[in-house]
Amino acid sequence: MEVELLEATSEPERLICKGARNDYMEEFVGDLSFEEIMTTVEGDSTEEKMETLIGHLLDHGHFGPFEHPQATFAVKGISRSCMGQITRHRHVSFDVRSMRYVSFDDVDPADVREGELVVTPPSATDPDWVGRNQKTGSIGEDEAERREQVFNDAIENAVESYQELLELGMPPEDARFVLPIGTEVNMVMSMNVRMLMHVADMRAAADAQWEIREMTERILDLAEEWCPITFEYYEEHMKNRKNRLAP
Ligand SMILES: Cc1cc2nc3c(=O)[nH]c(=O)nc-3n(C[C@H](O)[C@H](O)[C@H](O)COP(=O)(O)OP(=O)(O)OC[C@H]3O[C@@H](n4cnc5c(N)ncnc54)[C@H](O)[C@@H]3O)c2cc1C
Repeated sequence: MEVELLEATSEPERLICKGARNDYMEEFVGDLSFEEIMTTVEGDSTEEKMETLIGHLLDHGHFGPFEHPQATFAVKGISRSCMGQITRHRHVSFDVRSMRYVSFDDVDPADVREGELVVTPPSATDPDWVGRNQKTGSIGEDEAERREQVFNDAIENAVESYQELLELGMPPEDARFVLPIGTEVNMVMSMNVRMLMHVADMRAAADAQWEIREMTERILDLAEEWCPITFEYYEEHMKNRKNRLAP
């Protein structure tokens, strides 16, 4: 998979501070410089004052100001299974590559065994991989070999059947019904900082599946570059805590 930051609010943490300070000031924030807005916040420099205020907001659960800055990520090559999980988050906006308008007629089904078009889960190739609700923890060499073969045969056959149905005149929107849930998809998704922390609470957690965890960790790395005070605080004090909003 690839994850890129496509677009994002510039100076997101100044915006968070402006929103938060608005709540406690008699004056109108629209009339003041950033330095004036931050005058009464503790700290020797503007940067230190922003750290104080943002840490205070996160510590006290005052999350509203974090809804102002927004980031848009482009994600390449996740499975439609992972897409099904991330699109459950209702405050994230999505664009998803269509399988009605894009058909995979030029993919060589033999290449699908090598990772083309369909995401291969680690458990298909790693006999020591342990996932959730697995029937048995360890398997022998024969079972491991057979498991990889069954997986690869199934995805190759599925892509072959899909392409044959296209050749037989079936529209891509219907032929796609035979493709596996591991079929790759590219997405663009936008969310605000508060939602990003919520997604991370749920999807970077130990009980989330490996693929959405990997995607979320990559998003968090990009978020830390974009919005450093907030996501350094998140990483240090909030990540892996018990999720407060949802079970
Ligand atoms: C490990 C794991 C396993 C899961 N397994 C399943 C499963 O088997 N089946 C399944 O269907 N789903 C499953 N889910 C999805 C899960 O139940 C949520 O639907 C999904 O994670 C979206 O998160 P959210 O509920 O926090 O809502 P979001 O859409 O992310 O909304 C954020 C918050 O806004 C509030 N909110 C949003 N909409 C409403 C609303 N209509 N009413 C009240 N409050 C609202 C809630 O506080 C919510 O937490 C799983 C999720 C995880 C992390």
